[in-house]
Amino acid sequence: MTRIDGDPVPSEALKLAAGQCDIEDDRLIRPVQVHSACVRKVGTSGRQVDCDGTVTDRAGLIHSLLTADCIPLFLFHPGTGTTALIHAGWRGLDTGIVEQGLKALELPPDQADELLAVLGPAVRSCCYEVREDVAGRFPGQIRREGERMFLSLQEAMIERLLKAGLRAETIEDESPCSCCHPDDHYSYRYNRTDRRMVSLMGVLF
Ligand SMILES: [Zn+2]
Repeated sequence: MTRIDGDPVPSEALKLAAGQCDIEDDRLIRPVQVHSACVRKVGTSGRQVDCDGTVTDRAGLIHSLLTADCIPLFLFHPGTGTTALIHAGWRGLDTGIVEQGLKALELPPDQADELLAVLGPAVRSCCYEVREDVAGRFPGQIRREGERMFLSLQEAMIERLLKAGLRAETIEDESPCSCCHPDDHYSYRYNRTDRRMVSLMGVLF
């Protein structure tokens, strides 16, 4: 995951980030993100329209994602080398993107506990104030301060991962809040930026 300074255009940032990692453009899987619950299994690089997550078992293909407060979720199954990179904000979580992502991995149910998961930098409950319309969808993950309500996207995601059979020990959620650390991250909450963080993931060979 990287932040490219001085670049205003997300698609250019993606090219730059890939270049920094010595990844050629033609290996990138590029979802055209729309805050959906759609996760697609792919076997080739290139654009994937109307989709917020991709799964592949092909070594050499590289998932990409652009975020500025939503969670980039990285999944890896060591036994098969299958990877997934999923974009999840409250809408995606609410409409089942985690569940769709796990389904797209096509693992036998008893192998979900072998998955490794990493939650990348995103806005955390310290800064993610929501209104009743959103809070009502996540009753277990709301922190109240007087009249104000704050949502933990991370807790909502982890609850879903555990329910699907992943183990708590192999879910890593140690990234800082994107909104509290604007020097290191782009955060839409912080300043309504049109810049984006770039996530890349793949099995190189
Ligand atoms: Zn924060």
